[in-house]
Amino acid sequence: MNIQTIGIVGAGQMGNGIAHVMALAGYDVLLTDVSAEALKSALELVEGNMSRQVGRGKISETDMTTAMARISTTQTLTDLGQSDLVIEAATERETVKQAIFDELLPHLKPETILTSNTSSISITRLASRTDRPEKFMGFHFMNPVPVMQLVELIRGIATDEPTFAACKTVVDRLGKTAASAEDFPAFIVNRILMPMINEAVYTLYEGVGNVQSIDSSMKLGANHPMGPLELADFIGLDTCLAIMNVLHDGLADTKYRPCPLLTKYVEAGWLGRKTQRGFYDYRGEVPVPTR
Ligand code: NAD
Repeated sequence: MNIQTIGIVGAGQMGNGIAHVMALAGYDVLLTDVSAEALKSALELVEGNMSRQVGRGKISETDMTTAMARISTTQTLTDLGQSDLVIEAATERETVKQAIFDELLPHLKPETILTSNTSSISITRLASRTDRPEKFMGFHFMNPVPVMQLVELIRGIATDEPTFAACKTVVDRLGKTAASAEDFPAFIVNRILMPMINEAVYTLYEGVGNVQSIDSSMKLGANHPMGPLELADFIGLDTCLAIMNVLHDGLADTKYRPCPLLTKYVEAGWLGRKTQRGFYDYRGEVPVPTR
């Protein structure tokens, strides 16, 4: 199937990054969000990030102008009906994703491929409630999308080969690398990464170290480019907690128990960079640890 128009649902940190790379690769992008503010700031972010790429000589001024012209926004979800491929990248909550699919499905072309950028929710379960489980799969980008090389492609139990091949072709055209993952909670990257982040929060909770010592230990002692708490703030603590809950519920193993301190930060609305406060406070010139 020839894919040219890509609908993206959710213009948050992932949605704007996906719009960015798709438009640069020559796809027509229709980006939707319930929030007009999110759509406005997504376009500003894409523009700012592309300008930086122009500044570094990675893309030309013309590449940027043409790519920006390929991105349209709408607050009406059903406008995405004519897309060849839909990538849902809304909030990591199953009820939210379900409501989006329910509203969108009657407006889609029969051949449209429907995908979710979910970090952890069962692709098979999401697919089973649609009219096209064979044309449904996981299309999981890493954050920040323009920088990270990997895309996990997750087949649900019913996903057919032409659907997988079509998505793989899109990943190839982006110049990224696809990893095929089976549909088990949190797939590959987050199955390994999130328990490590959760353990870093336990290490903080039990007073083994403070925010700074935990992050520098992992940067200098394990050669990680970012400390686990810094990375958690970058991902979003609500997303981290949601993924831990999916692992805990889906695998029924206490080793995935979300740290109560992670829950507490989320309850406080301290969700990391996107709310200016998490394990670090980002409101000043330099990030200051909150513990
Ligand atoms: P985010 O909070 O930055 O953005 C979510 C956006 O979805 C918001 O702008 C919100 O207004 C919008 N939204 C909520 N309900 C909607 C609806 N009904 N219709 C349209 N838009 C709606 O979240 P994010 O970090 O961009 O995550 C989005 C998805 O990508 C999640 O499924 C998450 O698990 C996944 N993901 C996140 C990361 C990460 O590092 N943050 C990495 C890979 C995948």
